[in-house]
Amino acid sequence: MARLRARLAGSNNALARGLLMLLSSDKLDEETWEDFEDTLLTSDLGVGPTTELVEKLRTRLRVEGISEPSQAAAALREELVALVDPTLDRSLNVDRNGALPAVVMVVGVNGTGKTTTCGKLARVLVADDKDVLLGAADTFRAAAVEQLATWGDRVGVPTVRGAEGADPASVAFDAVAKGIEQEVDVVLIDTAGRLHTKTGLMDELGKVKRVVEKKAPVGEVLLVLDATTGQNGLTQARVFAQEVGITGIVLTKLDGSAKGGIVIQVQRELGVPVKLIGLGEGVDDLAPFDAESFVDALLE
Ligand code: GDP
Repeated sequence: MARLRARLAGSNNALARGLLMLLSSDKLDEETWEDFEDTLLTSDLGVGPTTELVEKLRTRLRVEGISEPSQAAAALREELVALVDPTLDRSLNVDRNGALPAVVMVVGVNGTGKTTTCGKLARVLVADDKDVLLGAADTFRAAAVEQLATWGDRVGVPTVRGAEGADPASVAFDAVAKGIEQEVDVVLIDTAGRLHTKTGLMDELGKVKRVVEKKAPVGEVLLVLDATTGQNGLTQARVFAQEVGITGIVLTKLDGSAKGGIVIQVQRELGVPVKLIGLGEGVDDLAPFDAESFVDALLE
């Protein structure tokens, strides 16, 4: 118990602090539970999941007669894992379809970490012995194309790019055509994310997908979300899910963020699993998402 407390006291994690508060009170009165609830909310767990978690935990502690803090902590861990849902299929659809490469579109608002994620994901796939091709369909910003090509060089995969201002759909189409011709395993398409023209952006992404699908099915549309943007991220996610359709979420910038509760909210709201997490800016800072290790890290 002392060790657990010491660990939690040393943590700057909002959830862990909340747990500490809960465990250090002599009795679990209304006020303590309310404080606990507030703490869960500040970690972006959202109102629905927070209420549900607190109710479940309260009932469980009562029914099972748990008063021992370490048992209460274990119960909290279990309830959190259940909320994150370890049963979701989080595998990436990156296997070739017969003669066709797997196509992955990476979408999201500028600054969330799209291009970086493309580079890091290419690295993961290459390490898995796959031939990868990058498609730079964010033709709106020359810098974005350069940045992707730099990532390509870094991880040793070619980048297909169009001229600045070229039609993104045609660049994506060319990338997939080249992928078919060169018999690569996966074509990863980086897309634009300028938010000030939301309708325009959604139309553009829809077009990229339709045009690419003339060549090969798009097996994954990964939405990149910045974990530090909280509710804003959730609003963005809803728009992308409705307008473009997404198959998985990449939650970036989880390093140094105590806002991991967004995982639970976003999965619930969109019915789409978090598949990957970004833990830094480096080439190896992308990890598959795992419910149990994630909750352990939240509670550390
Ligand atoms: P894009 O505009 O969506 O393509 O975003 P970028 O890939 O250019 O990333 C924006 C910034 O976020 C860059 O400075 C990246 O290095 C940084 N970044 C991306 N992913 C992560 C991450 O997981 N952790 C941290 N700390 N920074 C990240």
